[in-house]
Amino acid sequence: MSATVIDGKQVAAELRTEVAGQVEAFVAEHGRPPGLATILVGEDAASAVYVGGKQRACKEVGIRGFDHRLAADAPREEVVALIERLNADPDVSGILCQLPVPGHLDGVELTNLIAPEKDVDGLTVASAGRLALGLPGLRPCTPSGVMRLLERSGTELSGARAVVIGRSNLFGKPMAQLLLQANATVTIAHSRTADLAGVCAQADVLVAAVGRPEMVRADWVKEGAVVIDVGINRRDPAPTDGSSTLVGDVHFAEASERAAAVTPVPGGVGPMTIAELLANTLQAARIQAGVAA
Ligand code: NAP
Repeated sequence: MSATVIDGKQVAAELRTEVAGQVEAFVAEHGRPPGLATILVGEDAASAVYVGGKQRACKEVGIRGFDHRLAADAPREEVVALIERLNADPDVSGILCQLPVPGHLDGVELTNLIAPEKDVDGLTVASAGRLALGLPGLRPCTPSGVMRLLERSGTELSGARAVVIGRSNLFGKPMAQLLLQANATVTIAHSRTADLAGVCAQADVLVAAVGRPEMVRADWVKEGAVVIDVGINRRDPAPTDGSSTLVGDVHFAEASERAAAVTPVPGGVGPMTIAELLANTLQAARIQAGVAA
């Protein structure tokens, strides 16, 4: 079998276009655009690139961006005061505190100061609780992106066996909850899972979020499965033939021989995260306007 490649770039571009249209309609109805406030403490280069990308993406779809940069040694009180101010600001629909924060700060504490209705990363205890209880709310962006890829690729989840490798709060746990909500029978695998290859080989839907290059090999993949590769790893050594320096957690060529559909890295799950952040910011604005739950 040669798998269909699920094109995350295309689905993300479609979602951005949809969000842009809905933002326009929101402005027409409510007289102001949704707004996303990002908070970056310190000068971590990778974090600065992520925040810059998020702010640019906002502009492209008509969401107002508020880009807050604080010194690496900003005292806790200063960050707390900023979050409290943004919580109370009606122009700010969504707030995102870029992690990791410098060592003298507590990323979990700061994240949990964000008002649940503005928690566009879906990482607060309140948002995680709402997800666990099946209540409406803002969901973490990357798992939401995976659900959208599965939906747009026509993957039947009801009754399917799904295996998620990885149990992080950021991805694995919310991913499993969303699959469960879609009526899949879900297994969460992790570093202590016995016979990981055997567990994965039972999956109709296999989602890998580990951070280990090309860990998932041909015999881990059930014939006809849908394989979603969330991993982002740097090739070491870097390729000299011009191919991508990034590689996923799945051996793409081997998985393609057995799977019905597979996401590439790059160009699979990666592009979905920012697109879902935009969708969440619009949803947050609707929640605050009283027109969504
Ligand atoms: P994480 O917090 O480091 O979690 C990794 C998970 O993998 C843990 O649950 C760990 O198990 C498990 N694991 C590690 N080694 C394993 C092994 N040998 N066998 C089975 N399980 C193993 O990472 P994360 O934040 O969830 O991210 C995972 C990957 O997804 C990374 O490559 C990250 O870059 C990528 N990612 C991409 C996006 C995006 O596309 N936008 C977003 C988020 C994450 P234990 O719990 O037992 O230690």
